[in-house]
Amino acid sequence: MLRAHIMSYSPKLCSNSSCLHHTLPGGVFIKKGFFRILRNHQKVRRFQCKACGKTLSSRSFSPTYYQKKPQLNRVIFQLLCEGMPMRGIARTLRISKNTVEAKFLWIHQYISSLKATNPLELGQLYFDELETIEHTKLKPLSVLLFVDEGYKILKSQVAVAPPKGRLAKVSYDKYGPRKDEREDILKQCFTELKGLRPQEIRSDAKPSYRKYVQEFFPGLSTRSLIAQRRSVTGTGFTKSIRSRPMIRCLYLISGVQSCVRISEG
Ligand SMILES: [Zn+2]
Repeated sequence: MLRAHIMSYSPKLCSNSSCLHHTLPGGVFIKKGFFRILRNHQKVRRFQCKACGKTLSSRSFSPTYYQKKPQLNRVIFQLLCEGMPMRGIARTLRISKNTVEAKFLWIHQYISSLKATNPLELGQLYFDELETIEHTKLKPLSVLLFVDEGYKILKSQVAVAPPKGRLAKVSYDKYGPRKDEREDILKQCFTELKGLRPQEIRSDAKPSYRKYVQEFFPGLSTRSLIAQRRSVTGTGFTKSIRSRPMIRCLYLISGVQSCVRISEG
């Protein structure tokens, strides 16, 4: 079936971004032999654009174009969602840590690109905050995350947060006063997501959450904000039971942070 589809494919647009027919339909593409995909020896027809002379195939428009191991994307994404560290994934799949990091960044970019085609209508909208740090516990950060029931990240934003408890004084003595951007960022995110039409919004019962839901999604009752029962989930992020989409996305965000830290290190 897939083979038949690949062989019957004919391009509608040119893959060359500087060609007129990259966006304008109506280009002429002549058949120009075949090539085989290295990993599975699949035969793919090659075409040539008459306008610019560049060759292309059905693979040219794939989001995994240029990837040598696209078959690993799914399993790496699943293992990241399960909370497995990148080094663990590399050991399990017998691939290099650099490959896992590269795949990870690609998955993050790919998910971000999906936001552009995200429909306004959605079932459930989940949002929550993840506490993390800049490089020391004296400089906390808060990652605000909005996801839908299909684990799609609709919006994520980082806010500077003040240290709590005994760390507050130590932080002040060492680094001076620290801003608290959480409220501003929360309002900014709600403003940007105002156009969405969720049927239900879920988060915990924090008073400011309730306030913004009422302000930006007036059609939804505040009963949509379901208070989460207290329990240890073992995720390391929270002591309340969170929805499965939120846990998966928190793992994903946490992984992106680890990746950034590794790249910086
Ligand atoms: Zn062209």
